[in-house]
Amino acid sequence: MKEYCGLFGIYGHNEASMLTYLGLYALQHRGEESCGITSSNGKRIYQHKAMGLVSDVFDESSLKKLKGFFAIGHVRYSTTGTSSLKNAQPFVINYKRGAIAIAHNGNITNSLELKDKLEADGSIIQTSMDSELVLHLLVKSKAKSIRESLIEALPQVRGAYSLLILTNDMLVGIRDPYGFRPLCIGKLEKSYVLASETCALDLINAKYVRDVEPGEIVVINKNGLESIKPFSSSQKAFCIFEFIYFARPDSNIFTKNVYLTRKRLGQTLAKEYPVDADFIMPIPDSGTYAAIGFSEESKTPIEMGLIRNHYIGRTFIQPSQYKRDFKVKIKLNPIKDVLKNKKIVIVEDSIVRGTTSRLRVNALREAGAKEIHMRVSCPPLISPCYYGIDFPTKKELIASRYSIKEIAKFIGVDSLKYLSLEGMLNSMMLPKEVFCTACFTKNYPEKINKRFVKKALEK
Ligand code: SF4
Repeated sequence: MKEYCGLFGIYGHNEASMLTYLGLYALQHRGEESCGITSSNGKRIYQHKAMGLVSDVFDESSLKKLKGFFAIGHVRYSTTGTSSLKNAQPFVINYKRGAIAIAHNGNITNSLELKDKLEADGSIIQTSMDSELVLHLLVKSKAKSIRESLIEALPQVRGAYSLLILTNDMLVGIRDPYGFRPLCIGKLEKSYVLASETCALDLINAKYVRDVEPGEIVVINKNGLESIKPFSSSQKAFCIFEFIYFARPDSNIFTKNVYLTRKRLGQTLAKEYPVDADFIMPIPDSGTYAAIGFSEESKTPIEMGLIRNHYIGRTFIQPSQYKRDFKVKIKLNPIKDVLKNKKIVIVEDSIVRGTTSRLRVNALREAGAKEIHMRVSCPPLISPCYYGIDFPTKKELIASRYSIKEIAKFIGVDSLKYLSLEGMLNSMMLPKEVFCTACFTKNYPEKINKRFVKKALEK
């Protein structure tokens, strides 16, 4: 599975672009395909975006050209729309009131209907990104101001959207009424900052103020920050998978710390499914924090039996004489002297297709592990996500087709246990009612229409 997108915005700083660049650096894990920054000096908009990592796309000279005292930035992995420069964000259009830029994290679930409606009304859609549709709704609005256009346009949009919008005189932050994706507000001296995760605030020494609330629009301009709540209050649906896998462990999202939550997941897992083992072993890096919790709760030591190679580029040449497990092998190398004749518990954050786990378990057996038990810090993934995370299709999710016993056999472990749904929800530091758990339960917070599902399967 891939992360989707990360957002960063700042208003009222003479180094706005440089700080946005740093913010995107901290959020790189949320999207590695393309990135971009749009800035404004109050008169005109400047932009630079390209395919690639933040460190590759920006340099001193490109940042210098991004003038102004406010900016928004975006890192992207495509969830809708193909992976190309045309679809990189922020996305800018010019209209009668000037230029307007948008950066989006999420997935608009009525995008096909919106597109039909806009095209029938004469809009020319330039990209395959659902985010562009929001801009068209805004510029089509007859309302007198952007603020009013937002209030008119947003109730037509369904699904998951944390948005940043930049015009020549304001920065706007928006979270959909369910609050699927995180977005927080920070302050750096007199400047306001908006970011997907608090790790981006930490890097620039900004202070966390609060989250943008579900269904809230924050308008930031020379008069300060104004909060607008145009939606009637509804059910919340914070993505629980942000805590399990996506967000950085040093971040607070939805007001709670990710590292501590992952540890609690591991502790609950150890209570539900203890194993008498020589040691607990995380699969680096994603299972590490749940493994620490498991080790603490079970009073069993933790060992690193697999060592990660941190110097792998995005692509490498695969020698033809090696089998297809080379990719797994080059990333993680088992330590034979640690594993030989040992009874071990591997802690994973999730199992998607099961193929990578199978290769890793095989490598651990070859390295001499005597017994391998696997514990997973979330329930079985049985259904895709339509809210901004690139999930495999239902057919590809191993737990949607096979029993836990069959999965254990396929992966090659002596036992396999998943954290219960109740255990996962009880490990959270927020009330269980606020979470989306649809990929574990099929209880989608809002009805997904068949046309959208069909389109998602075509990707
Ligand atoms: S379906 Fe799963 S991944 Fe998608 S928003 Fe809900 S909890 Fe998150």
